Amino acid sequence: MSNPIEYLKGVGPLRADMLKKELGIHTFGDLLDFYPYRYVDKTRIRNIAEINPRTEFILLSGVVTKVETVGEKRGKRLTALLSDRTGQLELAWFQGIHWVQKTLVPGGRYLVYGRPSFFMGRPQMTHPEIDSLQSEGAEPREFMEPVYPSTEKLKARGLNGRQIGKLTFHLMSLLGESEIPEILPLPIRLKCGLPGRWEAYRNIHFPKDQEACDAAVRRMKFEEFFLAQVRMGLIRSGRHRSSKGVIFTRVGALFNAFYAEHLPFQLTGAQKRVLKEIRQDTASGRQMNRLLQGDVGSGKTMVALMSMLLAADNGFQSCLMAPTEIHARQHIQKITTLLKELPVKVDILTGSTRAKERKSILAAAADGSLPLLIGTHALIEDAVQFSNLGMVIVDEQHRFGVAQRARLWEKGQTTPHVLVMTATPIPRTLAMTAYGDLDTSIIDELPPGRQPIVTVHRLEDSRPQVMEFIKQEIKAGRQAYIIFPLIEESEKLNYENLMKGYENVKAWFPEPQYWISMVHGRMNAQQKDANMQRFVRGDTQIMVSTTVIEVGVNVPNATVMVIESAEKFGLSQLHQLRGRVGRGTEKSFCILLTGNKVSREAKERLGILVQTNDGFRIAEKDLELRGPGDIEGTRQSGALNFRLANIVSDRLLLEEARQASDTILDQDPELLEPDNQPLKKYLQSGTARNPWSKIS
Ligand code: ADP
Ligand code: MG
Repeated sequence: MSNPIEYLKGVGPLRADMLKKELGIHTFGDLLDFYPYRYVDKTRIRNIAEINPRTEFILLSGVVTKVETVGEKRGKRLTALLSDRTGQLELAWFQGIHWVQKTLVPGGRYLVYGRPSFFMGRPQMTHPEIDSLQSEGAEPREFMEPVYPSTEKLKARGLNGRQIGKLTFHLMSLLGESEIPEILPLPIRLKCGLPGRWEAYRNIHFPKDQEACDAAVRRMKFEEFFLAQVRMGLIRSGRHRSSKGVIFTRVGALFNAFYAEHLPFQLTGAQKRVLKEIRQDTASGRQMNRLLQGDVGSGKTMVALMSMLLAADNGFQSCLMAPTEIHARQHIQKITTLLKELPVKVDILTGSTRAKERKSILAAAADGSLPLLIGTHALIEDAVQFSNLGMVIVDEQHRFGVAQRARLWEKGQTTPHVLVMTATPIPRTLAMTAYGDLDTSIIDELPPGRQPIVTVHRLEDSRPQVMEFIKQEIKAGRQAYIIFPLIEESEKLNYENLMKGYENVKAWFPEPQYWISMVHGRMNAQQKDANMQRFVRGDTQIMVSTTVIEVGVNVPNATVMVIESAEKFGLSQLHQLRGRVGRGTEKSFCILLTGNKVSREAKERLGILVQTNDGFRIAEKDLELRGPGDIEGTRQSGALNFRLANIVSDRLLLEEARQASDTILDQDPELLEPDNQPLKKYLQSGTARNPWSKIS
């Protein structure tokens, strides 16, 4: 399987080069893992009478009569009549007439293959493939013929989608069952009704019928899911076994004093439950790796803060990492206020922290005198070392890769507990695959007294009414956001787009009656911050921006969120933006603006947002509509690089694979039993694509 592809008969150095460059096929094994996208099924001769409007490609056999040309010039075509026991079918050619005419012998028997269509209620077939039954090889095939994706360059080298099949056929004939050994434990194969590995490879490339093909595809998809789940399960259980040291034995003075005297509100039931889960984890003697999902405004920060106090009570340091500077600032402001009367020091480290300050913060972190540190990416730099880091909290996980998470674990002698917080609700299937190495907690309850945000979809024509509405809200003392889409491809276009938008807004809201803040990607951190602060303080009534305010900022007085060209945003992103309002006691509104002409699909998508405030439902829909590749943060994660399987359309199979993986690992957490050796060996070998190997 690891033989270089040029060793395969029919490949040679030139083609090998192309296969590598164009398709990433380097070895025999790679070629075997390169699957067909469709098949030509000439395995079974069917009856003409079977043809109906839904019939796809079909193989027929019969006598050809009435071969004639009809029409003139461009309308000229060759027709013939094919008859079998059950009926008749018209065949037609518009091109290559001359050649077909020479080949077709009236009264001869032929095999005919093609896709029927209906004309005036009668079936016909244009440009069928024909084979005289007198000629050699004109018989139904033993298996369906695979067709592979190819590229222009490969085609030029004589490797089109069908020719690649010839290579694969040859390769498959070289490989016996011992070269493709089974890796799934037998009980699982039996339970889930999966064909063996060798058989599956053969049948995914050269199935004898559709049923065999489906079974092979199912097996391969299952295998992909299963391997991914086992890998993550091993990481999870390995960490559970190996991590030790950081045990929070008690709930101490800081936590208790804060809870009793400084908590500005009652915790919600969900917050309490999550804190309990965290307490259990941190007392268990194994390292916590927990993903905390909670919709925008569900109060994750409080959970973070109290977890850090728990750490401090046990003599450990904590850090909280935020995705942006603004974010980190808001955290520190809030946390300093909350902790004002408690004897616990907290500091902030970001890219813009001055050198002198930075030096003293680094020193305090390293000698253990600073219990709480808040910051941005700056925290993962190597210069940042702790004397006894016990708790790492990562806010808004989707901005951080798995690898960055891993780097935080290496910040000291101790292995800290890790809490990853995200406001993007993650659909279950996605959580299982992209974050399967983490335990999860969910805050599924908003603090009491929140009014649901009223969401509407408005067309360009009603812009005047929308602007008028903003004026009313401002008159009532409220503030508004107006968001413009971020165009990924071009920063320049973004900027121009936003500027145009800004001028437009200014025309509606002239100074000095109104003041507008603007934040965009070309500003440096200080400029952004200054503009944000003006809005936070209420000096400006309107905030115009691209999506930089997507996460973090908290302005309870803002009650209107207008999103321009709303159809350009993903659903989850819109939901996040909407979460910027509805943070105070006043009723809030989210207005999704689009052009007058919107596609039905876009209307439907925006309709989901109008209907529900439930982040999980929205995330599921988003995943369904856009597929996993487009969900923010998952593209680079590597965990979703499935070849055949799709976590949305194959979610039932994913569920099955997950259960199978759990069963195996429950019984044999380190895969020591003889039955599980092939699986273990495969996972450890270089052949298994393993995006997790670096951190596991
Ligand atoms: P997020 O989960 O989006 O990070 P925050 O932690 O910023 O949410 O909380 C949103 C707002 O709700 C904050 O103003 C916070 O003080 C408030 N809040 C958090 N928990 C509660 C609670 N249990 N009761 C009332 N208000 C709360
Ligand atoms: Mg938050």
